[in-house]
Amino acid sequence: MQYISTRGAAPVLDFEATMLTGLARDGGLYLPEHVPPMTQAEIAGLAGQSYEEQAYLVMRPFIGTAFGDDEFRGLIAKAYAGFGHPARAPIKQLAPNHFLLELFHGPTLAFKDFAMQLIGQLFQAALARSGARVTIVGATSGDTGSAAIEAFRGLDNVDVFILYPHGRVSDVQRRQMTTPGDANVHSLAIDGDFDTCQALVKDMFNDFAFRDSVQLAGVNSINWARVLAQVVYYFSAGVSLGAPHRPVSFTVPTGNFGDIFAGYIARQMGLPIEKLVVATNHNDILHRALSSGGYVTDGVKPSISPSMDIQVSSNFERALFDAYGREGGAVAQLMDELKQGGGFQISQGALEFLRDAFASGRASEEETSATISRIAEATGEVLCPHSAVGVHVAEAHLSATPMITLATAHPAKFPDAVEVATGTRPELPARMADLFEREERVTRLPNDLAAVQDVIRERRGA
Ligand SMILES: *Cc1c(COP(=O)(O)O)cnc(C)c1O
Repeated sequence: MQYISTRGAAPVLDFEATMLTGLARDGGLYLPEHVPPMTQAEIAGLAGQSYEEQAYLVMRPFIGTAFGDDEFRGLIAKAYAGFGHPARAPIKQLAPNHFLLELFHGPTLAFKDFAMQLIGQLFQAALARSGARVTIVGATSGDTGSAAIEAFRGLDNVDVFILYPHGRVSDVQRRQMTTPGDANVHSLAIDGDFDTCQALVKDMFNDFAFRDSVQLAGVNSINWARVLAQVVYYFSAGVSLGAPHRPVSFTVPTGNFGDIFAGYIARQMGLPIEKLVVATNHNDILHRALSSGGYVTDGVKPSISPSMDIQVSSNFERALFDAYGREGGAVAQLMDELKQGGGFQISQGALEFLRDAFASGRASEEETSATISRIAEATGEVLCPHSAVGVHVAEAHLSATPMITLATAHPAKFPDAVEVATGTRPELPARMADLFEREERVTRLPNDLAAVQDVIRERRGA
């Protein structure tokens, strides 16, 4: 299995190299040259298997010879052993034909644990074999950072540096990043918003001298291995509700477009997904782009669903690549326009392709809060604000096909917004009850590439 860049000018890589590098050297994102299809019988055969076995069967064709079969099974088993639910991704019913896929039973209470716990295992296995040492640098709006730190803390051949926007993550999110005491974990609070952090990370990857000197590796949702790990729960949920014999639909609370893009891959592999709905908060660039064809940034407005406070939605580039007939040059030009002028116009043909693949909707702050209180009253299920954005948007897309909304985080990760909506403060699971007593460790830095690079050079182990 070979991987190619969305900008068409980076080396073609195998799975292991794609995973270890993250961003392609031409600034693009890696995608499989061909998406391997699953037959109807193979999809039907997933029903009734453990989540781990489903993960093995869905991901195996993508990894080539990077890991042996038994080794890969073992790494998957370790990745999900720490989850707080035996089903890993359980489904609850909210209303007639509307289901909630709970993806928050991992160690940091957000769906990002599904991918991050697995790539922690895959990195460790690959690096132990080669003896190489890498520096992981990631930008976070809150949940990626804690998931990455939890997955890589204490590992031998890895240092982790996480950039988060100072003052713009929840207290629980911040403490999950600043309280692990491991020497290889470094939390950096940056003066700016998420897009500032993401731009700093991209600039570090494009500084090849720096990139090579510290062996930079990226685990943001641009990393293909993360997208791949997320493909699995679309299958697990789909087959529980009747696929491949009947279609299902999904609504996905969306920021960087990684999670919903995994659904798009599941559909390409053969899972019959009727609607794939992008749900945004008031930072609705994706909803506006799909509605009007204009992808135009206009500044991030803080919201009660901060993990979706994003204007430059990185993985959308992967969808654009397909929408433009896999012409890397066309994608590179759009991304140039975005960087120079803050936006671009999607061509008519590409827009039709995207509208065929994705529906979309947005939830205002008031709608999000009202959804949390209404669903709690009607069903007893307490939604986090991101999941509530999804449920609100999904309700406009219900049909005879089962709708599955992804619940992306545990409500206790965002207790203030939930308390305002329901009157009750959601409690952290017992295993995290002492989070607010642990000591914090963090370095505050300006939005300055050289300053961040200096800290990384200085702190990383040799
Ligand atoms: C990261 C995150 C999202 C957005 O996911 P993307 O893959 O960036 O679209 C939504 N909800 C929560 C809770 C998250 O942590």
